[in-house]
Amino acid sequence: MQAHTPAYDIAITGAGPAGLFCAIHAAASGATVIIFEKNPEPGEKLCISGTGQCNITHSGDIRDFFLRYGANGKFLRPALLGHTNEDLIRFFGDRGIAMEVTDGGKVFPANRSAPAILRILTEECRTRGVDLKCGEPITGIQRAAHSFSISANDRDYSAKMLVIATGGMSYPKTGSTGDGYRFAGALGHTITEPGPALTPLIIDDYPFSSLAGISFPGLPFSVWRDSRKIFDRNGDVLLTHAGLSGPGILDCSRDIRAGDVIRLAFAGKAQRETVERTFLDLVQTNPTRLVKTLVTHTGVPERLAESLVHLAGVPMDCTGAHLPAALRKKLSDLLAGCPLTVKALGNFSVAMVTRGGVALKEVHSKTMESRIVPGLFFAGEVLDIDGDTGGYNLQAAFSTGYCAAQGCTARLKERQ
Ligand SMILES: Cc1cc2nc3c(=O)[nH]c(=O)nc-3n(C[C@H](O)[C@H](O)[C@H](O)COP(=O)(O)OP(=O)(O)OC[C@H]3O[C@@H](n4cnc5c(N)ncnc54)[C@H](O)[C@@H]3O)c2cc1C
Repeated sequence: MQAHTPAYDIAITGAGPAGLFCAIHAAASGATVIIFEKNPEPGEKLCISGTGQCNITHSGDIRDFFLRYGANGKFLRPALLGHTNEDLIRFFGDRGIAMEVTDGGKVFPANRSAPAILRILTEECRTRGVDLKCGEPITGIQRAAHSFSISANDRDYSAKMLVIATGGMSYPKTGSTGDGYRFAGALGHTITEPGPALTPLIIDDYPFSSLAGISFPGLPFSVWRDSRKIFDRNGDVLLTHAGLSGPGILDCSRDIRAGDVIRLAFAGKAQRETVERTFLDLVQTNPTRLVKTLVTHTGVPERLAESLVHLAGVPMDCTGAHLPAALRKKLSDLLAGCPLTVKALGNFSVAMVTRGGVALKEVHSKTMESRIVPGLFFAGEVLDIDGDTGGYNLQAAFSTGYCAAQGCTARLKERQ
């Protein structure tokens, strides 16, 4: 029996960057705000972001961000324009945290401390009177006529507006276990099937285990499904013990499925015919040299050259003069597009973000309010949004958190 039901203007589920930023900006308008976090402390995932250094956003024009979220970037336009990378940098700068930009455009706090970013967020919450309840997992949400009833730790709370900011399903040990999908689903929302993104690929019969750690900057590669090419990319590719990683692979993992074939163009952008011609020239002009040495002349590192020679079935002591045409063609194939079949994508315990989530067609992009349940809002990774590496995910969490705060407070004013 619930003796007393504390009432708030706005309740937020989840104290990650999206929920905390939403709370700060909602409370700034004078609204009473409560935020529930299941963990004993807020922002666990934020604290490990960028290996604890927090790649908080990216530099450059905010319009360049729109292309960094796959097909769903369009939805984020109003939120990103409403609170840009510059705004975010200013927010933390005003509170004593300067930012630094790396060569590739990634923005980090100069002190390289994710916990320092979290401290600013929690201090701002405290200053603005946000009721931050940690160790309070929300277990149920009920919709009433003009409010929501929220159950946490055998107690019920009521709020006029509700923001779901529970994150996705990746790194579940940080608290993001997909609860928000259940809550949103029970309130009538469609959930686009969640899957791991920004995740490495595990390769079937992987031939390069012994080369783990070698990376190829700006390597051209293509992705094939059912013998049809689905896209071409250029990016940094890292060979791991079990498959492929590196920003180039991670950034397109949202569009890769088990069974797809990745063709790595170790010889660069040249067409297959050009690679074969170049290799034939090398063989003809250097007949006494070992084939594995000739392969390095195409620009690949020595250890990879040996692996490719082995993969093509060419004996290690074979010279150019003794290389049969069929094996020369095989080597040219491997140099132009070494095919590797994806056995699996890294699961949620290694994926940095989750693709899928609350379907965007049921959410207003200008306010983050549900198109199905008035007064219900979403922020952060619980939405069907996932960005590339480089600070795009945290920017999306902060921008949608800010947008939801504006949406909630505008709705509250309408109801007064
Ligand atoms: C290892 C790693 C490194 C990363 N590095 C970067 C980086 O450098 N730059 C970048 O842009 N992105 C990075 N990301 C991604 C980024 O951290 C996330 O996209 C971002 O944290 C999402 O913010 P969020 O607030 O939506 O969700 P989360 O940060 O997941 O927060 C959601 C919160 O909700 C809480 N919660 C869940 N269910 C309940 C419930 N039932 N009741 C109460 N609370 C609940 C969770 O405990 C959690 O604290 C990284 C991710 C990982 C895993």
